[in-house]
Amino acid sequence: MDKPKLLSVIIPFFNEQAVIAECHKRIQQTLDKLDMETEILYVNDGSIDNSLSILVDLITHDPRIKIIDLSRNFGKEIAMTAGLDKAIGDAVIVIDADLQDPPELMIDMVAAWHEGFDVVYAKRTERKGESFAKKATAKLFYKIINKISDCNIPENVGDFRLMSRQAVDALNQVRERKRFMKGLFAWIGFPQKAIEYSRDPRFAGETNWNYRKLTTFAIEGISAFTQEPLRLATYAGFITALTAFILGAYFLVKTLIFGEVVQGFTTLITVILFFSGVQLLSIGILGEYIGHMFIESKQRPLYFIKQTYSAQNDT
Ligand code: UDP
Ligand code: MG
Repeated sequence: MDKPKLLSVIIPFFNEQAVIAECHKRIQQTLDKLDMETEILYVNDGSIDNSLSILVDLITHDPRIKIIDLSRNFGKEIAMTAGLDKAIGDAVIVIDADLQDPPELMIDMVAAWHEGFDVVYAKRTERKGESFAKKATAKLFYKIINKISDCNIPENVGDFRLMSRQAVDALNQVRERKRFMKGLFAWIGFPQKAIEYSRDPRFAGETNWNYRKLTTFAIEGISAFTQEPLRLATYAGFITALTAFILGAYFLVKTLIFGEVVQGFTTLITVILFFSGVQLLSIGILGEYIGHMFIESKQRPLYFIKQTYSAQNDT
């Protein structure tokens, strides 16, 4: 008979003391129903509350727990990457600590993996507890990025997903520093399947996201995945230059025929403002891409691990 397969569950967390114990309970209960060996890999993304000590205490009750303690807060994308690097499972599941991703769905994910899918992602049918504005901006973001980039990022899909060893190995080869995970998950390809669920509001605690962070996320996502904005700047330059040429010719002929008239302040100021706007925008777009090159060219490691904890040894 085959050796039982190993499932790794990765849970990145940042200041989740209010939910982490409940989260572990739910995950544990679900895993008990699965006929698989499991490792539960928590990644502490620089929490400054008691979440880490709560988990360290839990190790004595559940030896499946392993904890990676990062040296500071690197952001969820990097924390997730640290988990993916260390996970040794034949299949790996990434799940949030705030119980917005129902752990029970892991059973369906594993079933789909047995059917042969390499990536099984959870797709939200509704977003409870989120404002209309957040839903609308999210929708717009996916529309734009899918239109202008060559990979197809499914809408209403978070990071909650199962990946086969093959998919994880592929993803781990992508070492870019600015990690737009939603894009990378789609970019690696492999047979993918969606499982629908309705997303609950946070169990407790606060989301660490705000609009400034979401905007940065959107801009980084788009600039990491497509050069289309650069092309847009080129088109804008081309169109404005053409317009300027036509307008220039018009004013030249007009002056030659009707003589010098000191008028047209409105035209002048409008044209100046318009061109400055287009120029600044284009410089900004260039800046985004230079920013990416700057970050990547430094070749820094993605994260540092301060300590790892597990039942066998505390190192
Ligand atoms: N998280 C993290 N590092 C961060 C921010 C968040 O590891 O810098 C974790 C957080 O603890 C949670 C998950 O990422 O387990 C999702 O975070 P959150 O609920 O704030 O995001 P949202 O659900 O609003 O997308
Ligand atoms: Mg959340």
